Amino acid sequence: MPLPLPPVFGHLLAVWWGAIWGSFANVCVHRIPRGGSIAWPGSHCPACGEPIAWHDNIPVLSYALLGGRCRTCQTRISARYPLIEALVAAISWLLWQRHPGSWAYLAEFTFALALVVMSAIDLELKIIPDRLTLPGIPVFFVAGFALDLAPWKERLAGAGAGYVVVWLLARAYEKLRGRAGLGLGDGKLLAVVAAFLGARALPVVLTLGSLQGLLVTVPLLLRARRRGRVRSVARTEIPFGPFLALGALEVLVLGQDRLVGWTLWLLAQVR
Ligand SMILES: [Zn+2]
Repeated sequence: MPLPLPPVFGHLLAVWWGAIWGSFANVCVHRIPRGGSIAWPGSHCPACGEPIAWHDNIPVLSYALLGGRCRTCQTRISARYPLIEALVAAISWLLWQRHPGSWAYLAEFTFALALVVMSAIDLELKIIPDRLTLPGIPVFFVAGFALDLAPWKERLAGAGAGYVVVWLLARAYEKLRGRAGLGLGDGKLLAVVAAFLGARALPVVLTLGSLQGLLVTVPLLLRARRRGRVRSVARTEIPFGPFLALGALEVLVLGQDRLVGWTLWLLAQVR
């Protein structure tokens, strides 16, 4: 369904739409793990409780104009707010290139938005709330019918397999180390991902997530070792959810066949 407008309006619309929902994502990240309603009350400063006027609530721009502080109480506002707004705007624009002005765009955008919210909560609190993942599994299974990423049977099987794989890994880890280390929240996140992308995406998402997780974790560990603080970092659990979400977005945008192709090509060069 092409829009009857010059393409530039489509690009602007996609960015604006993404920024608005990025702003909503910030509300979700703050309120969902704290059990609050995401619809009411309107935006207010977490420090002084003062409601935020619409003109102080423009994605990215307001943060820059106010110098990252609340207009009323001057408390610093987390940089997470403009970062998430800009990130979701960028993702929206990227997905718009794939299917401009279509249900497929809306389905993919909603999927990406949910992944961003889950990742930000996981980064902040090291949990992925069931309030997001459990409804996410059926919602994104249904949303998957808006595009043709994988047959529905494969997506249904994937939703189950994603959870089971992480459950097995978590049990094995517990047996080996004598303590829990892998959250089942990651399993539910994988179930959401596979309900939308299909079971075949799971090994690719897990591999990409692990590799990129290592790319971030290893330098952190090495730096901590140089400073003699290895123990504290080894104990800090770096959440895996954001890396799985990143892998899922890469599979969505780049396609798993292309990603597998690149990996095989890279392996061939190494040999
Ligand atoms: Zn304030």
